[in-house]
Amino acid sequence: MSELRVAIAGFGKIARDQHVPAIAAVDGVTLVAIASRNASLPGLPHFATIEDLLRDGPEIDAVALCTPPQVRRAQAVAALRAGKHVMLEKPPGAAVTELDPLIALAAEQGRTLFATWHSRYAPAVEPAREWLSHRRIDKVQINWKEDVRVWHPGQDWIWQPGGLGVFDPGINALSILTRILPKPVFVTAAELSFPANREAPIAADMTITDLNGLPIAAVFDFRQTGPQSWDIIVDTDHGQLVLSRGGARLAADGEILVEARDEEYPGLYRRFVELTRTGASDVDLTPLRLVADAFLLGSRRIVEPFED
Ligand code: NAP
Repeated sequence: MSELRVAIAGFGKIARDQHVPAIAAVDGVTLVAIASRNASLPGLPHFATIEDLLRDGPEIDAVALCTPPQVRRAQAVAALRAGKHVMLEKPPGAAVTELDPLIALAAEQGRTLFATWHSRYAPAVEPAREWLSHRRIDKVQINWKEDVRVWHPGQDWIWQPGGLGVFDPGINALSILTRILPKPVFVTAAELSFPANREAPIAADMTITDLNGLPIAAVFDFRQTGPQSWDIIVDTDHGQLVLSRGGARLAADGEILVEARDEEYPGLYRRFVELTRTGASDVDLTPLRLVADAFLLGSRRIVEPFED
C-alpha cells in the first residue's frame, strides 16, 4: 500500500503539538509540505497559501486543515477540487450549512472528507460507551472549564464570529456526549455570556435532553483559573460514571477502569488513512448542530470585557 502524502495547512498550536508527532507515529502516512502564511517546519517545503501549495508544491494526496474554522471551507474546496483528500480539524466549519456542499463535492470528486472529533479518540470514551450501554441513564452533568489565557493565548479568531468562543473546547465535550449516549439528544435552553468587547461567548450553560426527558446540564467556562475541569458525570440505575481529563480517565462507582495517556491524534490519522483507501467520507455534524442550537435558543448576557 502506498504512503498517504499529507500537507498541513495552518501551522499553529495544534499542528505542532499533535499533527506532526501523530503523522510521524502512524504507518502509511507521511508529512511532505506545510502551507501557512507565517510558520514553517525546517526541512519541509513551505508555501504561504494552500493555493500556492496546490499549484507549485510537491505531489500530495491529502491536506490536513489546522487553520481556524472561519477559513477552512475555502481551503477544503480548493483541495477537493484539486483531487486531494481533506482532514478537517474540529469544529468542521464555522457554520453548519457550509458542510453539505463540501460533503457533496467530496463525493463528486471521489475523495475523503474527514471531519475529526479528536476527543472521541480519547482512551476512556469507548469503554464509557460500553459501560453505559448496559444501564439506564438518569442524569448527565458536563463541567468543561478551562483558562482561555493558558490554552488559547492570542487566538483572536476564537473571539470572532464563527470562532465559537467557549464552545471551541465545549464542542469536544459534546462530541463525547453524543458518542457515549445511546439515544439522540437536543438542546432546550442555553445562556450565553458575551464579554462586552467580544463577539463570542466566554461562558455558556446548556440544557439538553432526549425524548425520554433525560436531564443533561452542561457548564462551559473560559474563566477558570486553578484546577481545570474536563469532566462528564453520568448517574445510572447501577452507579455513577465519571469520565474525566477530557476522556483519558474513567471511574465507575469510585473504581478506576481506565487511566491512560492521552493519545487521540494517532487514532485520527489511522482512521484518515483507512478512509482514503476507498475515498469514503466521515462527517458527523451532531456536535456542531448542538452548538448552533445553543446560539439559536440561547439568552444572552453581557459580562465584563475580556483582555488577553
Ligand atoms: P492557532 O494556534 O491559532 O493556529 C492556527 C494557524 O492557522 C495559525 O497559526 C495561522 O498560521 C493559521 N491561520 C490563522 N488565521 C488564518 C487565516 N485567516 N487564514 C489562513 N490561515 C490562518 O490555532 P490552533 O489552536 O492550532 O487551532 C486550530 C484549529 O484546531 C481550531 O479549529 C481548534 O479548535 C482546533 N484544535 C485546537 C486544539 C488546541 O489545543 N489548540 C486542540 C484541538 C483542536 P499562519 O499565521 O502561519 O498562517
